[in-house]
Amino acid sequence: MRRLRRRIARTVKPIGLALLMAGPLAAQEFTGLARLDADESAVIDRRGGGVEIELALSQAVPWRVFTLDAPRRLVLDFSEVDWAGADPAALLSADNAGPVRLGQARPGWSRLVLDLAAPMSVDSAGMRVEGQGARLTVILSPVSEADFAATARAQDPAGTALPPPVAEAPGPLVVAIDAGHGGVDPGAMREGLVEAELMLRLARETADAINRTGTMRAVLTRDADAFVPLTERMTIARAAGADLLLSLHADALEEDEASGGSVYTLSAEALDRASSRMVERHQRGDLLGGVDLSRQDDRVATALMDLARLDTAPQSERLAQALVAALETAGAHLNSRPRRSAPLAVLNAADFPSVLVEVGFLSNAGDRARLTNPTSRARIVAGLVSGLSAWAAEEAARAPLRRR
Ligand SMILES: [Zn+2]
Repeated sequence: MRRLRRRIARTVKPIGLALLMAGPLAAQEFTGLARLDADESAVIDRRGGGVEIELALSQAVPWRVFTLDAPRRLVLDFSEVDWAGADPAALLSADNAGPVRLGQARPGWSRLVLDLAAPMSVDSAGMRVEGQGARLTVILSPVSEADFAATARAQDPAGTALPPPVAEAPGPLVVAIDAGHGGVDPGAMREGLVEAELMLRLARETADAINRTGTMRAVLTRDADAFVPLTERMTIARAAGADLLLSLHADALEEDEASGGSVYTLSAEALDRASSRMVERHQRGDLLGGVDLSRQDDRVATALMDLARLDTAPQSERLAQALVAALETAGAHLNSRPRRSAPLAVLNAADFPSVLVEVGFLSNAGDRARLTNPTSRARIVAGLVSGLSAWAAEEAARAPLRRR
């Protein structure tokens, strides 16, 4: 969950926290070279003797900031920024600091050095993602000589063993899209329609729409009509760094009155007949492929999952609510009871926020028409994508509160 909060909390953090968060997210996630947009970057004075540094980059990169004494200067290291074409003199519009120097600290590390006219320390420093790019803001405030000496580094760490770089807001929210069933497990079948095929098409359309947002990235747990066991689906999602999982289904009931979409979260028991049927069908689906779910539920795994769920259950709940609201706004047809919960295996296996979206019932003629009609499907896709965005924004707004 720390990972999710870091990804979606695109706020400027106090520098102490930013340095503490130097974690295993190292350069391998950011192999491309970022470019500086000099027109959107500047070093300016702040009232009261401080300085503000704003740097616009073509992408987020790991970075760190520190001050050095004798002479007094601020150092920003990046892994890695292409300074080509940037004029250091043009960046500077400040009297409290300067000049700016741009260069390389050592291979793989780009460096900006700013001489300070007076003792200052870093008040705040943060990189936030903006569209495809990123913006770094560093604010310096005047301090006493003694305070400067206390916060400045004794020596330049470029000459010593470098700690892992600080990575802030490293990239888009990763959404795992799980097309239900597949291969030997076709799911529901009615009137020549097959749940597994319809869900794969819907999953691909949803993934394309997610990838077009620029703020989210989709990964499919299957991208073919093949049977993929539940454990493998989860492995695919985790390996991609999934922040959440959407499982897509369109099942069938014996009678055809039930119609419209509903969103499931995990619960210990199914409280109505449609939910019970959902559980039955989806347990059978996995047994078809030779996976006995009951054996995976050893006590250690269960205890660990319970711990993970303390964190993810409220997030999954908010995700389900955001999706229902957005599907409704987008004009997608919803069930009269669109919020449901049941002990579904796929939700039980996810250690990140997860919901199962029953986009409609193959047993209903109206839903069959809607799921095969591109315009109706586009409403579902639009609802899912805007629900995800709304949820991400809500979680980001919550993150600073949690940190206090
Ligand atoms: Zn299904």
